[in-house]
Amino acid sequence: MSTAPRAFHIMAKPTGAVCNLACDYCFFLAKEQLYPGSKFRMGDEVLEAYIRQVLEAHQVPQVTIAWQGGEPTLMGLDFFRRAQEYIEKYRKPNTTVESTIQTNGVLLDDDWCEFLHENKFLVGISIDGPREMHDAYRHDRAGKPVFDRVMTGLRLLQKHKVEFNILATVHAANGDHGLEVYRFFRDEVGARYLQFIPIVERDNETGYQEGNSLTDRSVSPEQYGRFLISIFDEWVKRDVGEMFVQTFDGVLASYVRGRSTLCVFSPTCGEGAALEHNGDLYSCDHFVDPNHLLGNILETPLAELMGSEKQRKFGRDKQDTLPQYCRDCRWLFTCNCECPKNRVSQTPDGEPGLNHLCEGLKAFFEHTEQPMQLMAQLLQRGRAAPDIMQIMAEAEKQMEARFAKAGRNDPCPCGSGQKFKRCHGRAR
Ligand code: SF4
Ligand code: SF4
Ligand code: SF4
Repeated sequence: MSTAPRAFHIMAKPTGAVCNLACDYCFFLAKEQLYPGSKFRMGDEVLEAYIRQVLEAHQVPQVTIAWQGGEPTLMGLDFFRRAQEYIEKYRKPNTTVESTIQTNGVLLDDDWCEFLHENKFLVGISIDGPREMHDAYRHDRAGKPVFDRVMTGLRLLQKHKVEFNILATVHAANGDHGLEVYRFFRDEVGARYLQFIPIVERDNETGYQEGNSLTDRSVSPEQYGRFLISIFDEWVKRDVGEMFVQTFDGVLASYVRGRSTLCVFSPTCGEGAALEHNGDLYSCDHFVDPNHLLGNILETPLAELMGSEKQRKFGRDKQDTLPQYCRDCRWLFTCNCECPKNRVSQTPDGEPGLNHLCEGLKAFFEHTEQPMQLMAQLLQRGRAAPDIMQIMAEAEKQMEARFAKAGRNDPCPCGSGQKFKRCHGRAR
C-alpha cells in the first residue's frame, strides 16, 4: 500500500550524469553506465509530468522545484523557461514555488543570471575554497583547472543580485584548512550561506555505494572534525546571525526541536528522491542504482512512488540498521549515524555499519555541546541566537583570567583533567 507524504523533495537531473566538468571525486559521472546509448536530455513529456506531479502531490503551501546534475545548465535556458511556464500552469492557488539549481557555475553568463534573478532562483554553486583547494580535484574534461571560470560565474550571480549559497565539499586537500576555507567564502567571496559536504568516496568503478574501501581523496574522520570545529569556533564568536552554516543549523535544530532539519542527522531517510532525465525515480541522490529504482513517473505517479513500501523501507533502514554502538551513543539524538552512504566502518567491537566520520562527528558534537545548548536555551526563551556571541566573549574573558592565575602544575581551568602546562598552558 502507498501512503503519499504531504511534502517531499525531488532532485531532478535533466542531463542525468552528464557534466561539462570531470571532478575526480564525482560520484555521479559513472552513472552514465545506467543508461547506455542515452542522449541524457530530459524531454518535454518528463519535464511536464515532473512539475505537474510535484505541484499536485504537495499538501503544503511551499513547494521546491530542484534542479541538479550532472550539470543542469547544459540543458540551456529554453528548457528552464519551459519549466517556469509549467510551474505557472500547475501551481495551486496560494502555493509558493521556489526553484533551486545546483551548478558548477562555469556556463553562467548575463542571460542566465537575468533569468535566475527574474525567476527568484536560489542557486547553489559548487566551489571547494581558494584556488589551490578548489582545483585539487575539480577540473574540466580536458583536465584544466576551473577556479577562475567558477569565480566569474559567481561574480555574475552577485552582479545580478541572484540569491546563492556555497556548496563546498570537504576532502583530503582542504580538510586541514577549515578556517581558511571559511574566511575565503566570507571575506573574499562575500557569501553568507554555506553547505559543507564531506567526501567519503568508495573506491570502485560503479559509483554505487558498494565495497568498504575509500579513495585517498576522502576526508578522514579526524580532519572532518577539526574542519568543522575550527569554523565553529570563529563563527560562534563573531558570525552568528550573519553567516549560516547548514551543518551548524542542522545540529542546533536537534537541540531546539529534538530533530534535525537535515536528512543526514535525522533518524530516518526517504523524504528526498532523485529523478533521472527519463523519469526514473530513485530513493536518494546518493543511491541512484538498480536496487534503489522506485519506478518511472510516466508510468506510476510520483506521489505513489514516494509513498511506496520500497521507499518507506529505505527510509526506515537508516534507523533499523544502526549498530548497537550508535544506539548507545550520547550523540544519537543529533547524529543518528549521519548518512547511510558513509557507513563503511566497524565499531570497536567489530560490528559493521559504523559511519566513517564517527570520530570526527563525536569530536564536533562534544566541542559544540555547551554553546549549542546555550543557543537553544536563548531561542526557547525568545532571545536571538546572536546573543550567544556576547555570552561566549564574556566566558572567554573569564577563562583567560583563570588561565592567567593557573600554576604550571595545576589542573587546567578548561576542565580537560590535564595539567595546565600540558593543556592551555602549553603555548604560554
Ligand atoms: S561539477 Fe559536479 S557533477 Fe560535474 S563532475 Fe564535478 S562534482 Fe560531478
Ligand atoms: S541516504 Fe543520506 S543523503 Fe540520502 S536521504 Fe538518507 S541521509 Fe539523506
Ligand atoms: S557519533 Fe558515532 S557512535 Fe555516535 S551516533 Fe554518530 S556515528 Fe554513531
